[in-house]
Formats: sequence, C-alpha cells, structure tokens
Amino acid sequence: MRIAARLLGVSASPTMAVMQEVQELRAQGVDIIDLGPGQPDFDTPELICRAGIAAIEEGFTRYTPAAGTKELRQAVAEKYNRDCGTSFDFSNVVITSGAKHALYNVCMAVFQAGDEVLNPSPYWVTFPEVVKLTRAVPVTVPTMQDESFILSPERVREKLTEKTRGLIVNTPNNPTGAVLPREVVFELAELGRERNLFLLFDETYERFTYGGKIHVSLAEVAEELDDAFAIVGSFSKTYAMTGWRVGYCVGPRFLMQKITEFQSHETGNPCSISQQAALAALEGGVESFESMRREYEKRREYLLQGLETIPGYRCVEPDGTFYAFPEVSASMERMGISGSVDYANFLIQEARVATVPGSAFGLEGHIRLSYATSMKNIEEALERIRTAVA
Ligand code: GLU
Repeated sequence: MRIAARLLGVSASPTMAVMQEVQELRAQGVDIIDLGPGQPDFDTPELICRAGIAAIEEGFTRYTPAAGTKELRQAVAEKYNRDCGTSFDFSNVVITSGAKHALYNVCMAVFQAGDEVLNPSPYWVTFPEVVKLTRAVPVTVPTMQDESFILSPERVREKLTEKTRGLIVNTPNNPTGAVLPREVVFELAELGRERNLFLLFDETYERFTYGGKIHVSLAEVAEELDDAFAIVGSFSKTYAMTGWRVGYCVGPRFLMQKITEFQSHETGNPCSISQQAALAALEGGVESFESMRREYEKRREYLLQGLETIPGYRCVEPDGTFYAFPEVSASMERMGISGSVDYANFLIQEARVATVPGSAFGLEGHIRLSYATSMKNIEEALERIRTAVA
C-alpha cells in the first residue's frame, strides 16, 4: 500500500506521543508523574459543563453552519472588540475543532508549494508539520535564551528571501513561556506590511501571563495589516476544555469565507454541543479562568525555585503559558547523555517523571516541564529529578 508523499514527511506529534507513553506506563502499573503534555489538571468549570448538558437535553445535536453558530462567532468577535478595540463581527470568525484545526485551515488557505514560512524556534511541535502539509517550507528563526527567547524582528529580517510568504508567531510561547512585548508586536506588524508577509499569531495561552506581564494580541494592529493576518485561539487551555475540541480563527472576511468553504468539506461543522459550552464559557467572564491563572502562578513560582536547586539546570523565567523550559545541558553532560530525547527517557526510567525533550521544539539541551498539574505532583517530581541526577 502506498502512503501519499504529503504524509510521508509528517511525523507524529511528540507531545501527544509523551501523553500516550504515560498512559501505557500507567496501565502497566508504573507510578509516573506527568509533566509532559500541556493539559490543565482542572475540570471544565461547572457552568460550561451545564451548557453542554443543556445542549444535549434541548436537542441541540444536529449540524450547525460549517463556520460555527452565529452566536458563538459573534461572541468571539466581541471578545476581541472589547479587549483589543477592533470592530470585528461574526464574519471575521470561524469556529473550529480545536486550535490545531484552525491553524491547519489558515495555513492551507494561505501557503503553498514554493513559499517559505518563517517559524521562530523553539516552536510548538505542530507548526513546521502543518507548514509542510501545505507543501511550503518552514524556515527557522532562532530566539535566544540570553534574550529571554523574545523574537527579534532583526533576526526575522535576516531570514527573509524572495520566497518568504508568512511568519508564524506564538505568544505567549509554548515551550519557552516568552510573552512578546508590545513594541515587538508592533515592529513585526510593520515588517509584515513592508515586506508583504502574512502574519499568523497563535494566541492560545493569551490568558496565562504572570508577574504583571500583559499579552499583546495581533488584533491590536489588525487594521494596519492590509488584511494579511489571522489569529488562532482556543478554548482548551483558557477554560480547561481540551477534550471538547473548540478553537477558532479570526481574520479578514474573505479569508474566513474561503476557510468556511474548505471546512464545509473537511469536517462539516465543529461539535454543536461543544459550541454551546464554549458560548457559555465566553459569557462566564474572567472568573472562569482567573482562578486557574492564579493557581498556575503559584505553581510556577514553586517550580522555578525548585529548578534552581537542581545541579546543571538553568531556567529563564517564563512570563506566560504553563511551561518551564530549562536548559539541562550541564546535567546531560554530567550524566553522559548526549541528546534531550535520551535525557527525557532517562527521567522517565530513573525519576519516573515525564517531560518533553527540547529537540521536539527545535532546541537541544532543554526539556519542557508542564506545571498544569497539582502542587503535590510538582513537589514530588522535583524531588525525584533531584535524586535521579544527583
Ligand atoms: N498543546 C499541548 C502541548 O503542547 C497539548 C498537546 C498538543 O496539542 O500538542 O503539550
């Protein structure tokens, strides 16, 4: 049986692979602490669950329009209008089955063979794979640990060629936790306009910033972008709704129209029940995520202090998301381990702690730890790692 060439170049999501591995080990009775995939340990807030249950009870179980219900699209548009001063309406929004789906839709609509798409590294694992699926080429733009992994517009410029068509930015960044300052977002917007680039911002972690840092959305400069932009967002992290699969893309009308046509063949509509739950989430106001943010902030403090006490670990303070991305190359050297995949395996074997190797995000010598887990798990994981690397 022949597998089509377009899929041969795509590898499995390493974050999902860690999730799978942990499940298998647990099924064998292994006591493992999972700091791997970023999945909130909180339950979906009750108000949101109730809206899902009501949707079923009221028979809201049939097809919806391909782009999602008008109410939910309008509610997402209004969120941006409130937070970023835009004047979007429902026609600027397409609801999708999770943010990955939104990302795929936008990339399929905009990129093609012969294009280069700039992909700042460390990057979230899915970006380069989705770009490859469009037959465009992902081109890495490094961000530097000693610059707190903040994307430098100068370094973006250095990678521009005749073929550069777009730039994918993730702020707050998974895995580094870097939150792009306002001036950088504005500079990138200017560069995009000047060089005719399509800017795609993944803002999945928009609500999770710490230490007074503020997320700046691309929507704030949307009017100046000559329609060459899209923003991808998710309900998964903000409202602890990973399994419900609801995300969205926001952008110019003609692009959303094209994506709607594509989606009408691709998936039909996103789940009707999940859409009703997502609408309740947006109507629920800040309290539905602010209590989770406060809890993440405490865990982050604790994890960062703990990492400082592990020999050979060095961690830039992550201002957002719920990940820490320490450099562990000194520890790797001490243990005689040469790659982050082997190091993550060593942590599974010897410490019984699951992490994601830095190489999955395009940077060796690091591991990613998720603190979307209980304080007790974080305490225990730190203790186990400390003992294993001693
Ligand atoms: N986005 C999360 C992560 O980076 C969940 C897994 C995934 O979607 O890749 O761990």
